[in-house]
This record gives sequence, structure tokens and C-alpha cells, in this order.
Amino acid sequence: MQYDSSREFAEKMDSSDPLKGFREKFYIPKNKEGKDVIYFAGNSLGLQPKTVRGYVEQELTDWEKMGVEGHMHAKHPWLPYHEFLTDSTAALVGAHNEEVVNMNSLTVNLHLMLVSFYRPQKNRFKIMIETNAFPSDHYAVQSHLRFHGYNASEGLIEMKPRDGENTIRTEDILAKIEAEGDSIALIMLAGVNYYTGQAFEFSKITEAAHAKGIITGFDLAHAAGNLQLELHKWDVDFAIWCSYKYLNAGPGAIAGAYVNRKHLLDMTIPKFWGWWGQDKATRFLMHHDFQPIPTVESWQLSNPPILQLAALRASLDIFAEAKMENLRAKSELLTGYLEFLLESKSNITIITPKNKIERGCQLSLRAAKNGKQLHTSLNEAGVICDWREPDVIRVAPVPLYNTFVDIWEFANML
Ligand SMILES: *Cc1c(COP(=O)(O)O)cnc(C)c1O
Repeated sequence: MQYDSSREFAEKMDSSDPLKGFREKFYIPKNKEGKDVIYFAGNSLGLQPKTVRGYVEQELTDWEKMGVEGHMHAKHPWLPYHEFLTDSTAALVGAHNEEVVNMNSLTVNLHLMLVSFYRPQKNRFKIMIETNAFPSDHYAVQSHLRFHGYNASEGLIEMKPRDGENTIRTEDILAKIEAEGDSIALIMLAGVNYYTGQAFEFSKITEAAHAKGIITGFDLAHAAGNLQLELHKWDVDFAIWCSYKYLNAGPGAIAGAYVNRKHLLDMTIPKFWGWWGQDKATRFLMHHDFQPIPTVESWQLSNPPILQLAALRASLDIFAEAKMENLRAKSELLTGYLEFLLESKSNITIITPKNKIERGCQLSLRAAKNGKQLHTSLNEAGVICDWREPDVIRVAPVPLYNTFVDIWEFANML
């Protein structure tokens, strides 16, 4: 793509954008003058699809009119409600239907996966994670190390960038697996790192890990709805994600989980059990003999929050219509354009990788000085992006609702 820095170029890109109609499906917050803000925080909380209200109201109405009978007789019966999201979820992450489920919240799902997939043995008990992983992920893996009697200093292998570099080289991860793989039980990395915006190379890492007998899981909080994922093809063992960032399902939305189907019938895998994981045909016989559903649904504990599932279903229906491959194609252009316009700004360094396969839509910017002040000024000028300690402004143009003109205006303000 031959970018140019004129406003006309941005306008032309918007008018020829095959996905331009999707912005209309979202509520865009307004600034003080009543003008649409430039919303670059879809990596933190995605905007509200206009259809969410109708989807949620349907369930409120059925609850109002039917009470408990809604479990069977609601327009979209609550008993199997989560199944109405399976096709779209599987398509979104590149999985088979039996490999995905929406349940709980992200950190809860991470714990459930660690119960099942972190099974330390005498000489193989370490967990590989990136040093700058999201705090919750660090807490989760540290707590499982402690639970099994290890401490973090003996049990964690932390990957970090080389001195003077900002992101972790894939070759360094692969070399570490090669050198120390026999002592590693689990690799738990982000799909896209929340801070730097680096996307990890799922397929290469998983392949190298498997060659050493290591289980590989990814936290897709910043990857689901952002990258075009192929979890099954890449042979990833498990993954979890939240749905309030790129998936636009609202604050505290219900989260997702994937388990590779090769593990689904393995009864030697430890698992925390609840009645919603029990075989559907016998669940209501209320006996005490746990027979798991032969899909990832067997990890479900409780009957799920239907209002939350309704909001997520509204959003996933939009993803199904737009298709992830189209969104990703636009996303690469948007982010490439942002990168192009920022290259001329001597006060800004982009720490996110240049290589498209090593990033999603987010660029993480480091200002030469007064970064926090710069962020505040941008905010006052109607740009919603975020500041992450110690020194980064994260900017995430989202292909569903951001425009090339958004990016042009942002770069101009900078
Ligand atoms: C956003 C995010 C979380 C947040 O966890 P919740 O359980 O949803 O509150 C955790 N991990 C990563 C990598 C994140 O980006």
C-alpha cells in the first residue's frame, strides 16, 4: 500500500473501505462539542454494538413473561443458550465447535486451565511466561506454582527482550525451549502482549514446545477479535480470552476458552467439576456420578449469565457478518497507515514490532519526554487512548469502527 499524508488520502481510503458500514453498528462516544471522539481504546473496552440492547431486552422480556419457564421456552431457551454462540466463537478463533465455550471470566478460566494443564513432575515443573505479561497472568501462574509447592524463583522462566530492544525475539523463545525444554511443563504466553502490542508466533512456538513434550497455552485477551487465529491448525493445547476488549461484549463480559480436541476425552487430565460440565442427558437426574460432556463444555461449572451471553451473542453476530479475515485485512492497513504517519514524528518511538505477523492493531508509543502529559493533552482534545505505566501510550485502531480519518486526525494532533 502506497500511503500518503494528505487528508484526502484518508478520506479516499474510508470511502472505498468495504467494511465502512460497520461503524454505524456501534455507539461512538461524543466529546464536549457533541462530535464523535477518536476512540482508540477498543483494546481496553470495546464500544457498544447498537444491537446489544435488543438482544439483552429479549431475555429480560422472556424472564418477565415466563419466569423459570424461560429455561425451556424463551425465544432463545436459556438451557442451551451458550450453544447459540458456539459457531461464531469457533470461527473467530479457528477452532472446532467442540473446542470452544464461553464461560466465567478470563482469570477464572486461566485458573481452570492451569488446574488441568499444569501438571508438574519431578524434573519438569517450570512455567515459561513473558516478563511483562499482564499482572493477573503472573499472579495466576505464581499461585499454581505455590499450590504445587514451588516458589516463583525456581519455577518461572521469564522471557524478556534483549538489552536495548523492546520486544522478545521468537528465536530467543525457541532457543530457550531447545536449551531448557526438558524442565518446562508449560508455556503460557500472551497472544498479543498488552503492553508492547507484540503478537507471539503461535505456530512456531507451539511446534517447538511439542517437540520437547511441553503443553502450550495462550492468553488471547488482546488477540481474540484482533488477529486471525487458527488455534486448532496451530495445535495450541489451550487458550482463554476475555470478551470486553476487541470483542465488544461490555464491561466484565463473559469470557471464552478453547481446549484442543485431542485433550477432550483424556480422563487422566485433572479438572474442577461443576454441574454444568455434567453430561446434558443426565444433568437433571441429580445423581452424584460425574460424567463429563465430551466437549470443552465439561469445564463449565455453573449455569451461565444469560444477559452476558446475550450481549456477547450480539457482538459475535457482527463478527460473523464482517468475517475475521476481512477485519484483519483492514486492520493491517489502518495500523500500517498509523505507523506511516508517525514515522515523521521525531518525538515518538513505536515499540511494537514492524513485522505484521508480530503485531495486531495496537501500536505502543513511547514519547521522548512528558509522555503522561502528552496522553492527557490528547485526551482533552477528544482522543480516547490509554496510558500504561511506566511510559507507554497505547493506540488501537479497530477495523470495525475506526476510520482512516480518525488516524489522520490523531497524527495531526500529535
Ligand atoms: C485484560 C487482561 C486481563 C484481565 O483479566 P480479567 O480476569 O478479565 O479481569 C488478564 N490478562 C490479560 C493478558 C489481559 O489483557
